[in-house]
Amino acid sequence: MCSTLHSAHAGDTVQGRVRDADGHLVLKDIRVPPTVKEYNRYVFYDQQYIMLFEMNKICVSMFLHLSLQIAIVNAFLIYKHITKGKGEVPMHQKAFRETLIEELAVAADIPAPSSTPHRAHHKPVHISGDNTTGRLSCRHCHAKTPVKCSSCDVPLCFLPSRDCYNEWHVANNL
Ligand SMILES: [Zn+2]
Ligand SMILES: [Zn+2]
Repeated sequence: MCSTLHSAHAGDTVQGRVRDADGHLVLKDIRVPPTVKEYNRYVFYDQQYIMLFEMNKICVSMFLHLSLQIAIVNAFLIYKHITKGKGEVPMHQKAFRETLIEELAVAADIPAPSSTPHRAHHKPVHISGDNTTGRLSCRHCHAKTPVKCSSCDVPLCFLPSRDCYNEWHVANNL
């Protein structure tokens, strides 16, 4: 061990498993230089510190989550109190939370999640005013169809018996 701080040996020992003459593992005091002992101590403290740091991180995130939940419940109670004071029927807590998320998303300029995010602008429309001349080959089944998607500009059947419109959009993840 190279150290200018510690002497080579100072009678320090650590417990370690060693094999005795019969080959059995036994606990024995092993003489170690002070440098090794110090190193082991600091490694131990280091591991303890990392553990504490990780636990601290978990505690902080749990605390923030809990604080947020308390803040939302408090806001809901205030909202209910004010609404009832006006003689109106307050919305349920679930609806209140959804409205709150939407309003926060608007305030933070984040697009609010929609149940049909990709279909918002896709609509089945007629290719032309004339059903017989304005027909094109369906992209999904290749039969003639008078309907196309307004966004994709792709001809697709949209009949009770043959819904290529939705099948094609689902298949193309649109
Ligand atoms: Zn089709
Ligand atoms: Zn489309």
